[in-house]
Amino acid sequence: MKRFREKARAMFTAPQKVEHVVTLGDTITVKDLAAAMAEKVGNVIKKLMEMGMMVSVNQSIDADTAELIAGEFGATVKRVVVKPYADLLEREPDPAKLQPRAPVVTVVGHVDHGKTSLLDAFRNANVAAGEAGGITQHISSYEVKTKSGAVITFLDTPGHETFTAMRARGAQMADIVVLVVAANDSIMPQTIEAINHIRAAGVPFIVAINKIDLPEANALRVKTDLLQQEVQVEEMGGDVQCVEISATKKIGLDKLEEAILLQAEMMELKADPEMPAVAYVVEAKMEKGLGAVATILMRQGTLKIGDVFVVGETFGRIRGLIGSDGVRVKSVKPGQPAVILGLDSVPSAGDELRVMETEAQTREVAAYRVQKAKDKANAAKRSSLEELFAKRDESKKLILPIILRADVQGSVEAISDMVKDINTDKVGVEILSSGVGQITEGDIRLATASGAVIIAFNVRADAAVRDMARNNGVDIRYHSVVYRITDEIKEILSGKLAPEKRETFIGYADVIALFTVGKGVRVAGCRLTEGTIKKDAFVRLLRNNVVIYDGKIGQLRREKNEVKEVSGGVEFGMSFDKYNDLKEGDRVECYEVEEVRAQI
Ligand code: GDP
Repeated sequence: MKRFREKARAMFTAPQKVEHVVTLGDTITVKDLAAAMAEKVGNVIKKLMEMGMMVSVNQSIDADTAELIAGEFGATVKRVVVKPYADLLEREPDPAKLQPRAPVVTVVGHVDHGKTSLLDAFRNANVAAGEAGGITQHISSYEVKTKSGAVITFLDTPGHETFTAMRARGAQMADIVVLVVAANDSIMPQTIEAINHIRAAGVPFIVAINKIDLPEANALRVKTDLLQQEVQVEEMGGDVQCVEISATKKIGLDKLEEAILLQAEMMELKADPEMPAVAYVVEAKMEKGLGAVATILMRQGTLKIGDVFVVGETFGRIRGLIGSDGVRVKSVKPGQPAVILGLDSVPSAGDELRVMETEAQTREVAAYRVQKAKDKANAAKRSSLEELFAKRDESKKLILPIILRADVQGSVEAISDMVKDINTDKVGVEILSSGVGQITEGDIRLATASGAVIIAFNVRADAAVRDMARNNGVDIRYHSVVYRITDEIKEILSGKLAPEKRETFIGYADVIALFTVGKGVRVAGCRLTEGTIKKDAFVRLLRNNVVIYDGKIGQLRREKNEVKEVSGGVEFGMSFDKYNDLKEGDRVECYEVEEVRAQI
């Protein structure tokens, strides 16, 4: 079809035209596209506008759009993949060198059912305060040595929102999930949610019935309730392992370890410890005095001091490795967690770390990824803005743009997920940018340009940035409780939903005499007939029940004194703000305006 169109075009419209070939990577700027086709930039922009895209000369468009445009101009397209060092970044383990590795386990369940207590029970038994002291508490992953000598790695992720967010990024970090259900509470909403997440991830799981020490504990009820969720534990004839434990009284923990190891054995978890290291970021943040640090989980290979690596959109050289017991180590192997030092900037949870050959390679790959992300963000912003306007025309849906900054990546992910759920047919939220660390000047620029509100979770802006925000009228909201954020956003949105104005009449007065004071200001001598007249309220002047003035009071006086209000059947004098046309017999109506916020 395209061929035919090109031929037809060639025959009828431009027989003398040379065929142009456009070489396309992931994106191309409008200027470059026009140049490659030997077309005027204006014509290309016009075409793009016809397609509903408002793009300027130096903006990039994605390859698919560029191909469409090229087709319109009769140019041929050659697509090329420009991924630097794809060979190094996609290295696979050598099947001949595979060795068993420790299973990685994460714990999920309803709030208060004992996830933290269980993780603490394992951690306390294993983690000593090491030389890196304070950093130990930030290690969101740690190894547990079982009695048999086998090792289990626990992943301490803040709730299953993160679990899902990481999964969405393709980083399947946990091999096995432990679903904690309290024996006194049984299945609760988040238990069901967790089961759904586990199923969606396709990860094998073990049920841990916790708080078995409580007198009201009823493990059997938990098992039967699980049947309703189509979870059949072994005792009920199914194949899901189930262990009864008490995290606080340390009952059954060794049985849970055994169950985990048995599951792991069936999975035959293996890795190649000799290939260049591959790892995933569990959590990353800025640490005072240390710079960007990340907890990683090793997947393949051995990571050593001095290794150069690329991770997500950043890179680095391993300056230090801290094992999960807080002690500095020289290398880490598959299945092991570690905190790494030597990052150029903070990566995102779920990012893949790959060791490369030279530092130049890591910089190049990171730069390429940053550019790609920028192009993507640009393209996405364009289309969402178009969408926003389109929606405004049709349904008047209000979208609140947000810039999110938080202390750790886990919070960023959890808040993003929650905020995205605020979406009705009337309002919605769009996260323009999110990241770890304090608010930057770039955030303020983006907020100024887009009208976005900045949500700061456990982070602050420095004085210069605060000034910049103030000067640009950028709204920064500081928070330290996740749930308050969604409440506040709903508030902002309902405030922005054209507030209804409700008037309340507070008083009436009749104009009984008139005089002029000072430089021609007319003052009405009035008698209060009802309620109160307030200086700060609004007034209307009615003549034969027709409003002839609506505004504010100029002066309000009682017996020569300026007053804030008059009430109780008295006579008083008043003037109106920039209004002099008064007559005896006019009536004054005083009212207040209250804004009623629409509910979403
Ligand atoms: P999470 O919200 O799932 O992380 O739950 P926590 O670990 O914070 O536990 C919630 C509450 O249950 C805390 O007060 C714990 O002390 C208590 N708890 C946890 N495990 C047990 C247990 O095995 N027995 C008893 N009696 N209480 C427990």
